[in-house]
Amino acid sequence: MKINKNYLNLKPSYLFKNIAERTEKYKKENPDADIIRMGIGDVTLPLCKSAVKEMIAASEEMSDINSFHGYPESFGEDFLLDAIKYHYSKHIGVEVDTSEIIVTCGAKEDTANILDIFDTDNTVLIPDPVYPVYLDTNIMAGREVKFISANAENGFLPMPTEKDKADIIYICSPNNPTGEVYSKEQLKIWVDFALANNSVILYDAAYEMFISDIELPRSIFQVEGARKCAIEFCSFSKTAGFTGVRCGYTVIPKELEADGMKLLDMWKRRQSTKFNGVSYVVQRAAAAVFTDEGYSEICENINYYRTNTENMMQTFDSLGIKYYGGKHSPYIWLKCPSDMKSWDFFDFLLKECNIVGTPGAGFGENGEGYFRLSGFGNIERTKEALKRIEDKLKK
Ligand code: PLP
Repeated sequence: MKINKNYLNLKPSYLFKNIAERTEKYKKENPDADIIRMGIGDVTLPLCKSAVKEMIAASEEMSDINSFHGYPESFGEDFLLDAIKYHYSKHIGVEVDTSEIIVTCGAKEDTANILDIFDTDNTVLIPDPVYPVYLDTNIMAGREVKFISANAENGFLPMPTEKDKADIIYICSPNNPTGEVYSKEQLKIWVDFALANNSVILYDAAYEMFISDIELPRSIFQVEGARKCAIEFCSFSKTAGFTGVRCGYTVIPKELEADGMKLLDMWKRRQSTKFNGVSYVVQRAAAAVFTDEGYSEICENINYYRTNTENMMQTFDSLGIKYYGGKHSPYIWLKCPSDMKSWDFFDFLLKECNIVGTPGAGFGENGEGYFRLSGFGNIERTKEALKRIEDKLKK
């Protein structure tokens, strides 16, 4: 037996382990410290009422021999596909066919598993910094990876040039960790670049619900030409607090072809071979999220998180600290004050303010000197954290 030696090329994923270890050590030495966690990318508000009501009703059905469900449909039950189509049409203004939507357990799984349908010889372009899953999954497959630099000069929204040509291009907008969002005009340039070079764009829209400006695209399919070059990944995780429930969806337009094959057909073949569908109970809950009632409930939750990012932006504005994101994202990406390095600022915040955040260096080389704070916490606790930061950093 031989192992997949590509795994030996993976860097140890020490970011969250290191955060936990430093925090634990500090807590041991300072047992009375009231630590506020602003590092997590997980949601904290519970599921909306409409989703829970449907989950309970679906569970009841499962307990009755006349309404019990066995294996779900491989690509999603019709009622959920219809609900997702409705969401695209009503809230985003994009028409997709239900046959182009494939329901799964989440965007992490999909952005990773989609690589099955692409040749390992393909070159890959990944922004730096970004959600680490894109890089590690390509290393596992042994692909050559190129980076495109997101930095202060380009407002953490890099645009392609000749040297960025690649077969597979990742775009995450709103971005994790920087919170920045591409405009339609910028995405059009990416789409034209992909079309000209025969590339596919893997578009991660996991945070689309946080976009509050109707001029900004929530889907790459709002851009002309994208149906010929893009695959979109979406999730109920951040949209509706499903991080622990698990449900997401991928959209592959029928037009998207390479080597005479439709990528939609290939993905469906891959899914029906390796995946047995999302639980019926979960799909019922997910469909409830996109009813008018469910949608207004999840908007309330998003607004709750938005209050946190608004409060953060106010504080950092008043302190003169440069930051990105926040407006259309649950994340604030701030420049560490006094040119501190990411991990030094982590230690500073932990020791001086008893706040835990996420060092930007953990998301790629360009993250050094930056820091991610999350708006997914409790409003009162976030206010308390901001007061502590203000007290420490006010000149
Ligand atoms: N994509 C991005 C950019 C993320 O930040 C995350 C989670 O933090 C995911 C995907 C994972 O989403 P899911 O919970 O649907 O797997």
